[in-house]
Order: sequence, then C-alpha cells, then structure tokens
Amino acid sequence: MKLILLGAPGAGKGTVAKLLTALDGSVQISTGDILRGAVQAGTELGKEADGYMKRGDLVPDSLIMGIMEKRLQEPDCQKGFLLDGFPRTIPQAEALKVLMAKLGIKLDMVVSIDVPRDVILDRLCTRRTCTQCSAIYNVKSNPTKVAGVCDKCGGPAIQREDETEAAISHRLATYNEKTAPLIGFYEKEGMLKSIVGTSSDVVVNAIKAAVGL
Ligand code: AMP
Repeated sequence: MKLILLGAPGAGKGTVAKLLTALDGSVQISTGDILRGAVQAGTELGKEADGYMKRGDLVPDSLIMGIMEKRLQEPDCQKGFLLDGFPRTIPQAEALKVLMAKLGIKLDMVVSIDVPRDVILDRLCTRRTCTQCSAIYNVKSNPTKVAGVCDKCGGPAIQREDETEAAISHRLATYNEKTAPLIGFYEKEGMLKSIVGTSSDVVVNAIKAAVGL
C-alpha cells in the first residue's frame, strides 16, 4: 500500500505504520526518524536540523524534500510505503504531488488519524523511544521490561528531547497552524479517509478495510 498517515504528534502514526508494514512488506518512512538518525550521526543534515527539532519547530521544506526525493527512489519502496510525519505543510504536499508525478507513483489514500488533545498530551509525556531502533514504549501502558532499556535491541529507551511539556505544546500549535490544513487539501483531492480512534488496532483494521487487505 502507498499511504500518507496524517495526524498530530502522538496520534499513533508511528505505531500504526509499524503494524501495517508487517502486513504487506511496505516500508515506514518517518522523516522524524531520518532526521534524528542524521542528528545522532552528526551529518551536515543533522547539524542543520538539530536546532529546529529541539525547539519543536519544523525543519525547512527544502531539506525535507531533498530527503524524500532520495528516499522514495530506494528499491524497498517498490512494495509500498507509509509516509509518517510527511508532508507537514501545504508546500511539502504540493512538492510531493509534483515528485510523485515525476516518479510515476500513485498514492492509494491519505489517512487522517484523529485523537483528542488530552489523550495526545498524556501519551507524549509518557512515551519512550529507543534511540537505536526507534521502537516506541509508554511508561504507563507499554513499559520496557527493564526501565530505560529497549526490549527489542537493548538500546537506550528514553524520553525524546522534544517531548517535554513545553516542546509538546509548541509542536501541537505548529501542527494546528501548518499541518492541519493538509486535511482540507487532501479532502479536495478526493484522497482523504478520516479515522477517529485512540486504539491502534481499531485504526489498523479501518485502514485494512479501506485498502482491501
Ligand atoms: P516526528 O518524529 O515526526 O514528530 O518529528 C520530529 C521533528 O522532526 C519535528 O518536530 C520536526 O522538527 C522535524 N520533522 C519531521 N518531519 C518533518 C517534516 N515533514 N517537515 C518539517 N519538519 C519535520
């Protein structure tokens, strides 16, 4: 399947993407994970992105489009992909449309995952992420077996720097201002499917039914 997953930070895009990739061999493409990897590796891209990310601001569209143009041409995208955290602005969505036409790629659908703000705030403050393999945990609902250690790879499972309360409020405000308008954008394109749900299983089942899996 070739999908865009839209939704506020903490709506569960990453978790849903991981469950869906197991179904048909499509790959999860998370621009956030790519950027965090670049910051950790200390590349030029990472150095440029670091400050924006720490503040909870969006990284400039030009950097993101450079990443995506390369990523979508990698062979593992042939079986399908789930875009998680991209596009995040109207200019990114417009540039993606041009890029897809150039690469001859046709999207199946844009899924908007709709979760109440109080659930999102609680989830993000209690989320822990493995810095090595990006596995996601939650100290309340899905803790690691050993505190701070990823069950899957043994890497450090920590609270992200942009998941402090102040950074989260800023990210949510940025989402409302810059990313939420994409819902209208894709509705006009006739591509949008909205799913209201706090359970990732419910969301995954709704997506499976919508794409005919
Ligand atoms: P995420 O893991 O998707 O919440 O992304 C973490 C951070 O990476 C965001 O707060 C932004 O600073 C940056 N980022 C990720 N994806 C994008 C994007 N498509 N456009 C701009 N900035 C992004």
